[in-house]
Amino acid sequence: MLITEKKATENGTKGKIVSVHCIECKRSTRHLVTVSLDKTGSESNEREGWSVDWSDRYQVIECQGCETVSFRHQSWFSEAQDFDDDGTTERVYPLRNKDAINPRPYHNVPSNLRRIYTELIDCFNNDSPTLCAAGLRALVEGVCAQQGIADGPVELPAKGGGTQVVRRDNLEGRIAGLQEKGLLTQSSAQTLHEHRYLGNSAVHELARPSSDELKLAIEIVEHVLDQLYELPEKAAELHRAIDRRKK
Ligand SMILES: [Zn+2]
Repeated sequence: MLITEKKATENGTKGKIVSVHCIECKRSTRHLVTVSLDKTGSESNEREGWSVDWSDRYQVIECQGCETVSFRHQSWFSEAQDFDDDGTTERVYPLRNKDAINPRPYHNVPSNLRRIYTELIDCFNNDSPTLCAAGLRALVEGVCAQQGIADGPVELPAKGGGTQVVRRDNLEGRIAGLQEKGLLTQSSAQTLHEHRYLGNSAVHELARPSSDELKLAIEIVEHVLDQLYELPEKAAELHRAIDRRKK
């Protein structure tokens, strides 16, 4: 006969210390379990001599350094055990990883571009690289539209051999247009060109861009946003401050 058993314990692990990567401290720190609900269960057949067991620990945890509160779910399933796996998985919310990027606090970037930027950083931090790449593409296109850049010079193979420069209005052309206007250095433009995940391939061919590639592209795009929107405003502030001092 099949026997199913379930049990729930409140605050069974309250007061315990667990080691978890802290989203604020950006390293593994001691976290105190402040509230917990532990559930265990099993299904067994004594006559046939087998049982399947599982457990779930739901915990509200607090970093003992910065006091940031998180939620930890640790689950264990007997059938997930393997020679190199003890059957335990852990998830901590909000999701975090040691490569997580802190979004820059932009004040002068137009709000629609800032929204795309925040969303693509969220995608990066929540392990959605394909959507992050699509967001990067949307952001580059948004910057070009805002700056009135519709095309740019792209080098293509010429019919009789060699290369020819043609103006194109695709993303490649617009990135070249940013460089043409002096808004992007040659090496940054080259990097954006080389990583084709920024183009159609990321979305249409479902290629999964690597975290390192995305990080590099995000850094370049942040640099562009700084140059276009943040630095001019900082320079204007500086001038205003100097003018006030002169009076
Ligand atoms: Zn912390």
